[in-house]
Amino acid sequence: MTQARIIDGRAEAERLRAEVALEVASLKAEHGLTPGLAVVLVGDDPASQVYVRSKGEQTLAAGMLSVTHRLPGHVGQDELLALVQSLNADPAIHGILVQLPLPSGLDEKAIILAIDPDKDVDGLHVVNAGRLSQGLPALVPCTPLGCMILLNRTLPSLAGLHAVVVGRSVLVGRPVAQLLLQADCTVTIAHSRTRNLPEICRQADILVAAVGRPLMIQGDWIKPGATVIDVGINRVPFRDPVKAAEGKTKLVGDVAYKAALEVAGAITPVPNGVGPMTVACLLANTVTAAKRIHGL
Ligand code: NDP
Repeated sequence: MTQARIIDGRAEAERLRAEVALEVASLKAEHGLTPGLAVVLVGDDPASQVYVRSKGEQTLAAGMLSVTHRLPGHVGQDELLALVQSLNADPAIHGILVQLPLPSGLDEKAIILAIDPDKDVDGLHVVNAGRLSQGLPALVPCTPLGCMILLNRTLPSLAGLHAVVVGRSVLVGRPVAQLLLQADCTVTIAHSRTRNLPEICRQADILVAAVGRPLMIQGDWIKPGATVIDVGINRVPFRDPVKAAEGKTKLVGDVAYKAALEVAGAITPVPNGVGPMTVACLLANTVTAAKRIHGL
């Protein structure tokens, strides 16, 4: 049995960022339009700080305007809402992203609902979720968009394939299932109450794992030749007792990768699979938003 093809998310993300940069250059040259992305970071969560810095750097590298607003963790709901409203009204800003999770005490749903849906580059506003579910043009959450790009680059056609999505979150599971449906897949959505999960996964031509449980999906849950998209990002201690004793950790996905390699037709690794696509798709969404706002 040959090993699965490893889907190189880092290379795909690089390609997408280059495409975005080209489009930004032509928007500037032909329309005098520079897409602008505002990122709002509340509090001092270290992981969020890393993500926000990387988003800012990549936005600038693509030739776009990047603005980062850093607010203290004790900021009030009204102050945060006022900032979102000022960004909604700012003509230089076409994309607004409020980095989640927000510190406790802030009403995340209310903040997301306050974002102008036309600038909601995270695709989390109910207007965008509703548009997506009706097959209308929408700003689509970045990670699901990244999964679809990887699938389209891997498979000649998605139509008629059985896609099983494990996970039903608003951020990943639900939107990726909607996108797979739009691509004419037959879609099953599984979750924590699903019975016979291994059996259901074994029916999948496309298996998307978005659970957040390290290595949960076993090799024998995978149909031979299936395409596996592992969205999970889980930090676990090293098995090596020396490294573990030093408190060192590593990233693993939701799929038992080594076993899956022997069965799947193609698979995304963790890291360097879906992860890098997320920020690249954020840049792409900002360009999409800028063009729509300007009727281009
Ligand atoms: P959530 O915790 O919001 O959702 C997890 C989903 O998995 C839920 O729908 C839950 O079901 C389901 N689930 C939990 N346990 C089981 C189980 N034993 N069997 C079947 N289903 C189960 O997570 P997210 O969707 O936000 O993220 C999922 C993973 O993807 C995480 O590891 C996260 O870090 C990663 N991620 C990666 C990104 C990237 O850029 N690559 C971006 C975003 C997330 P139920 O609804 O019934 O509770």
